[in-house]
Amino acid sequence: MTWPPLREELRGLAPYGAPQLSLEQAPVQLNVNENPYPPSAACVADIARAAGEAAAGLNRYPDREFVELRAALAAYLGQDGGRDLTPAHVWAANGSNEVMLQLLQAFGGPGRVALSFAPTYSMYPEYARDTLTEWVVGHREEDFTLDLDHARDLVLERRPSVVLLPSPNNPTGTALPPEAVGLLCEAAGDGLVVVDEAYGEFRRAGTPSALELLPDHHNLVVTRTMSKAFALAGARLGYLAADPAICDAIRVVRLPYHLSAVTQATALSALRHTDELLAQVDELRAERDRTVAWLREQGLTVADSDANFALFGTFDDRHAVWQALVDRGVLIRETGPSGWLRVSMGTPAEMGQFRTALTEVMKEMS
Ligand code: PMP
Repeated sequence: MTWPPLREELRGLAPYGAPQLSLEQAPVQLNVNENPYPPSAACVADIARAAGEAAAGLNRYPDREFVELRAALAAYLGQDGGRDLTPAHVWAANGSNEVMLQLLQAFGGPGRVALSFAPTYSMYPEYARDTLTEWVVGHREEDFTLDLDHARDLVLERRPSVVLLPSPNNPTGTALPPEAVGLLCEAAGDGLVVVDEAYGEFRRAGTPSALELLPDHHNLVVTRTMSKAFALAGARLGYLAADPAICDAIRVVRLPYHLSAVTQATALSALRHTDELLAQVDELRAERDRTVAWLREQGLTVADSDANFALFGTFDDRHAVWQALVDRGVLIRETGPSGWLRVSMGTPAEMGQFRTALTEVMKEMS
């Protein structure tokens, strides 16, 4: 056996993650879809006080059921299209990545299939790999929307126990129309349809959240995160809303006390500042629309986006463009189909620096 005795299929694989550069190397960081606005001073003070109180009890394990937090999350979702949600409908973990891994641990596994449509979030196949679930991937249309006939046929043919559908999709920004969610929930039968709304709060007006469809489909799961719109990526808090039977099933695979007392206290404090934390969402959506329009004015192709990022291209040598932007202190992401690049929305000043740098780079390369 080779050392260390890593599973055969994991040998030689690199851990997932975008290139990380220091602020000195790249002062304008627009690569991992973070919120560029830190929490307000009042929110920071509230978190510090609550974390301090939690610290005084750290000799004890935290509330394993995090009931208070689940109630606060259910109340928040009620403001964004969730109907009659109780703490029993809500589950949470350390980021929505962990929530989705737990879903695959509980509902995937050997002999079962997880399915999505590419291009999509590159962690999905990793959840499948790590839980020994077969990974099946369909395709999207040229404009990155779902081909509903193809999607339904693939679900009917492969009978996945979990369908992963991000809305808006990463890295394309494409939102799913509610009829697509309904149709795939019907096609999936007793398989779960997980609508990953990590970027849900950034959707354009008129696009409803899949939360509204929860009462109609027993197999629908909607995941959310505090990492994006809530500007709390460092706290690691993701969650879902679903039929209570689904939350109960996840309890079987979760590690005991997986949400630390400090995490619970932090998230609860942040939720008390929901309005303040979400105040910048409108600004970021406006920045997104301005950025998409500007990129199109430069003659580039840009995917319609309901998220806090934009996928644009296409470049013969996208790596050269990415590197030339880094050389000018602007870090974006080399991701998506070949030739495309993704930029996250920053502050107006950061987006100005991005536009200046990209203008120079495109001039230089033409
Ligand atoms: N879903 C999608 C589509 C994402 O892009 C991300 C983060 N980039 C996540 C889920 C996970 O985020 P987190 O674990 O911070 O909640």
